[in-house]
Amino acid sequence: MRYAVVSDVHANLEALEAVLADIESRDLEEILFLGDAVGYGPNPNECVALLKERCKIMLAGNHDLAAIGSTGLEYFNEYAKAAILWTQSVLTEKNRRFLGTLPVKKHRNKENVLLVHSTPKEPEEWHYLSTLWDAEINFHYFSERICFIGHSHMPFLIERLPSGEMLTSTDKGSLGKSARYIINAGSVGQPRDRDLRACYVAADDDAVEFVRVDYRREATQRRMHEFGLPRPLIEKLSEGA
Ligand code: ZN
Repeated sequence: MRYAVVSDVHANLEALEAVLADIESRDLEEILFLGDAVGYGPNPNECVALLKERCKIMLAGNHDLAAIGSTGLEYFNEYAKAAILWTQSVLTEKNRRFLGTLPVKKHRNKENVLLVHSTPKEPEEWHYLSTLWDAEINFHYFSERICFIGHSHMPFLIERLPSGEMLTSTDKGSLGKSARYIINAGSVGQPRDRDLRACYVAADDDAVEFVRVDYRREATQRRMHEFGLPRPLIEKLSEGA
């Protein structure tokens, strides 16, 4: 089965719509969402509603839980915090309740994958998995063939061979039968790898591809400006970092 893995939309409706259109054009059958529907961007309610309508599975990320008051703001920088406070002020009761029902990790037998926003080891601690050493530790905390993660907004694939050797890639890759993988799906709504385009993963049993999709970022930025969201968050979308 061919499926899409989508993460870190961050209330960027233009980016989400562009990604959903691309997914549709590729006939990917299911969409699995790894969390952070809201935070940073100007359209939290629209993004939650659209994701709810289109995704087979949805996880909660730290920004989603912060937006409903279920996790503290102490790890957020001042701009992220300001965006969360704004998000709290506009989020509908319906969406607030819905975000509160989402898990932080999910096992999928069908594709033999684990889905988690931050790390398999401690999904609710919001650690970043960024080094091969982090990966080595985390491979011991799931049994599936692939673990998809988000959170850092940096797309990458780490392959662990049966010998224990690890290889990394940020491009498309074929999946070996006996290897295991940790794959970061990147970010739809706020990429940080210097590529300004929205990012998601198209996958099947044999291969994954990091798909990049352009979108009308000026429209997103204009609305962020109108709503008084912090300038550095607006500029981030033109910097990709
Ligand atoms: Zn995020």
